[in-house]
Amino acid sequence: MVQKLAATAERVYVDGEKALEARFQEAVEALRARGIRMTPQRHAILAYMLKTRSHPTADEIYKALSPGFPSMSVATVYNNLKLFKEVGLVRELTFGDQASRFDGQLHDHYHVVCVVCGRIEDVEYPPDGRLPVALLRQEVLRQTGFRPLEHRFEVYGICSDCQKAGRSPERPAPAADASADEKPRRPAAIVPAAEETGA
Ligand SMILES: [Zn+2]
Ligand SMILES: [Zn+2]
Repeated sequence: MVQKLAATAERVYVDGEKALEARFQEAVEALRARGIRMTPQRHAILAYMLKTRSHPTADEIYKALSPGFPSMSVATVYNNLKLFKEVGLVRELTFGDQASRFDGQLHDHYHVVCVVCGRIEDVEYPPDGRLPVALLRQEVLRQTGFRPLEHRFEVYGICSDCQKAGRSPERPAPAADASADEKPRRPAAIVPAAEETGA
């Protein structure tokens, strides 16, 4: 699993090392401006979050980093993620009563969630443009009077690995962990028409 996360991050950032380094420096500055000092563990968690595309839970980050930091605890990871969230460096993705996942990619993007294994991948949509979010906001305001602050849009499906392995929500992997026994997540049903139709 850890190997897989690293490979994904590498694939995405093979041409983006410069951008990643710049984002890291900005993040360090943002923390410093808030009087938060950089410890080696905090540094590692921040670097991991800026690089990963896997939307990990605190526990997954802990498992990936703890071999290099024997004194690290899940609580350390979680507290740092909360701190990063407060400063606006990561986003927290909640899925009902399941463990929160964290996203270090702050640009507008969407998620596709595998209902069998729980994998989450980013979807850039439209691939080279911006969604008509302004239109969506207008419509929300017009129909409900709400002042929109943020929105989420998730597509639920079966990932390519699960398809190849013949896994489905009804027939999850035999040796899967306890989470496979849970009912597949149902869509959060946030499907704004303005986004569906695109620009
Ligand atoms: Zn899957
Ligand atoms: Zn994401």
